Amino acid sequence: MILLDILKRTLRVAKAFAIKSPATKDIRFEAMHNPSRYRGEHKINYETCIGCDSCNKICPTGAITMKKLPFKKQNIVPEVNLSVCVFCGLCEDVCPTKPEKSIVLSGGRYDMLTGGWHKDQQDFWENVDIPQSYIDARLEKEEAARVKKELLAKKKAAELEANKEVTQ
Ligand code: SF4
Ligand code: SF4
Repeated sequence: MILLDILKRTLRVAKAFAIKSPATKDIRFEAMHNPSRYRGEHKINYETCIGCDSCNKICPTGAITMKKLPFKKQNIVPEVNLSVCVFCGLCEDVCPTKPEKSIVLSGGRYDMLTGGWHKDQQDFWENVDIPQSYIDARLEKEEAARVKKELLAKKKAAELEANKEVTQ
C-alpha cells in the first residue's frame, strides 16, 4: 500500500515536471486571443484633425492629452495613454471630421502587458510625431494667408479713403 502511494506521488511529480501547467505559461510569448470586434490602439491623423478638443472632453478616463502645435489654427492634436484607456471608442464616435475620422481605434496592437504598477501607466502611449517638413509647410501657408489678409485690409482702407475724398 505504501509502495503504491509512493509510486503515485512519484508519477504525479514526474508529470508536473514533464507537462507545463497553464499557470506556468509565459503569455508574453503567445499570440493572444483577439476577438472579432476588438477595438485596439488609436490611429491619429494630424493632417485632418481640426483640434476641436471633443475627443479629450468626452474621454471618461482622462486618457487623452492634447499636444500643442506651433500653429495659429488647428494647433492641438490628441495623444492617447493606452494604459489608462478603456477602449470605449467614444473619442472616435465624437470626432467630427469627414469623410474620415481623425481618431480611430484601428484594431492594432494587443500586447499591452504590464506589471500592474502605477508607474506602468506611462508605458503605452499613442504619440503623434509630426515631420518638420509638414510643420514648415503649414507655417509657410499661415504666413502667406496673414500677408494676404493684411494686403486686403490695406486695399480696403485705401478704397474707403478714396471714396471719402470723392464725396467731399
Ligand atoms: S477609447 Fe474611450 S477611454 Fe480610450 S481614449 Fe477614447 S474615449 Fe478615452
Ligand atoms: S475630435 Fe477629432 S478633430 Fe477633434 S481634436 Fe479629436 S481627433 Fe481632432
